[in-house]
Amino acid sequence: MADRIETGGPDGGEPADFIREIVAEDLRTGKHAEVVTRFPPEPNGYLHLGHAKSIALNFGVAQEFGGRCHLRFDDTNPTKEEQEYIDAIEFDVRWLGFDWGRHLYHASDYFDRLYDWAVLLIERGLAYVDDLSAEEIRGHRGTLTEPGQDSPYRNRSVEENLDLFRRMRAGEFPDGARVLRARIDMASPNINLRDPVLYRILHASHPRTADRWCIYPTYDYAHGQSDAIEGITHSLCTLEFEDHRPLYDWFLEHLPVPSRPRQIEFARLNLTYTVLSKRFLLQLVKDGRVRGWDDPRMPTLSGIRRRGYPPGALRDFARMIGLAKRESVVDYAALEHCVRDLLNRSAPRRMGVLRPLKLVLTNYPEGQVEEFPAVNNPEDPTAGTRPVPFSRVLYIERDDFMEDPPKKFYRLSPGREVRLRYAYLITCREAVKDASGEIVELRCTYDPATRGGSAPDGRSPKATLHWVSAAHAGTAEVRLYDHLFKVPEPGAGGDLLAELNPDSEQVLTGCRTEPGLDNLGAGERLQLERLGYFCVDADTRPDRLVLNRTVTLRDTWAKVQARGK
Ligand code: ATP
Ligand code: MG
Repeated sequence: MADRIETGGPDGGEPADFIREIVAEDLRTGKHAEVVTRFPPEPNGYLHLGHAKSIALNFGVAQEFGGRCHLRFDDTNPTKEEQEYIDAIEFDVRWLGFDWGRHLYHASDYFDRLYDWAVLLIERGLAYVDDLSAEEIRGHRGTLTEPGQDSPYRNRSVEENLDLFRRMRAGEFPDGARVLRARIDMASPNINLRDPVLYRILHASHPRTADRWCIYPTYDYAHGQSDAIEGITHSLCTLEFEDHRPLYDWFLEHLPVPSRPRQIEFARLNLTYTVLSKRFLLQLVKDGRVRGWDDPRMPTLSGIRRRGYPPGALRDFARMIGLAKRESVVDYAALEHCVRDLLNRSAPRRMGVLRPLKLVLTNYPEGQVEEFPAVNNPEDPTAGTRPVPFSRVLYIERDDFMEDPPKKFYRLSPGREVRLRYAYLITCREAVKDASGEIVELRCTYDPATRGGSAPDGRSPKATLHWVSAAHAGTAEVRLYDHLFKVPEPGAGGDLLAELNPDSEQVLTGCRTEPGLDNLGAGERLQLERLGYFCVDADTRPDRLVLNRTVTLRDTWAKVQARGK
């Protein structure tokens, strides 16, 4: 698409960020005819929000510039990798709205070629077998200010190295007995160039190559060569790999690779109140601190999906935060803003009561039922209305009544008139208490002249309450969530587990909902008026509706933004 390329940005405007700028330039100058990116997860856990940023970037750039993006499993460590994770990752990437087509690859597809190239490095005197232990290698590595020390095995002959490496592969040595290292420079100011390890011995069965290998390549050795084999043009990764780039390039320079990818780093996503690390998330799952990888409080894609975040909101979020070359922490409220924004446009409105308080309209005829048309989505006129039944006994939210209201409480209290949404104006006459003094019922009267919610004399109460008809209501369990951590920057104080929020989940049973909600299937989203956006949980059964609160209605992010202006 030449017209796209000439104008710089994919949509004819300015490129949105420094990476898109580089890609546009490379296409303009003809350095590449087509952009090829990849998303390279290690299948050792479930994907999280940080990965979503990387997925949106890699697949987004390919899409925008008419190229392609590969999904490549970086499956070089069989002791930590599982098929369950592979399946979950594929599902999550598709759920986010991206497609790798036929371009699904595995680093393990290249094990033979990587091995041959390692042999080539040995033959060229650029790699050697080291008998030092992992600990000794660490001890020889030096520090940022001091050079490393050569291993006593560094000057082995090519023949001896070839023989030992072949025997490593043949399974003659136990785990950890030897490694293959690049022979670069133990005095390099860049520690990554101090003879990095290329292969380690691991007698472990691999999900794809089974027991064919007992030596496995390291990330550093496998990654760039995999990129080159696949013809990746721009290898986009997070900043912690910046210091690895000279090594990435060193391999490409010293091996007969079929193409020359370029590694470009960007700042990883950090979010307040959130830890984005598969290792730590795995620990939460293993320790039973959450309901599993897909617990709605988890920052995993499976977790936020169960919570009800729509994938489009994550794509919006990725666009909103953009890309930078410096680390920063994004306010979690910004993500919630994107979720709310999308759900506001798409989620049907319903009424439900989380903490029901019985309300009897003493002057409403027994046995009478009326139906009021309720708006399905004020943001979408085509969504129409639905009939909601109304009768003499209702439930309202316990929080919407106060016997002794403070000054700014405008909702229901004795003698006060309020509007019931879509229905009538009602006035509270009496609060009935049980023996312990708890309010168990409100006795109210309604004004028949206010049918539909407006009074002929123009009086208009300050509060409009949601409600359900007791005889018609369904029952639900509702799970309310708060941040998984109680501090904005978990980990800053050391012990992550101690910073977990003990009140991150609150389960309410006996919630009452307007009729029809029990027909919803798992994953369906809705707004409960005045309470927030919700999503039907997978724990739902025919006789038991379970709702997760996705997000409340209050947009703290918009407030922060407004204050900044
Ligand atoms: P973790 O530390 O959580 O295990 P990882 O980086 O080890 O994450 P990989 O499976 O190796 O996980 O990552 C796949 C891709 O996702 C890599 O390109 C990585 O840079 C990117 N990625 C991981 N975390 C983030 C993040 N927080 N923000 C942006 N990109 C990320
Ligand atoms: Mg990793």
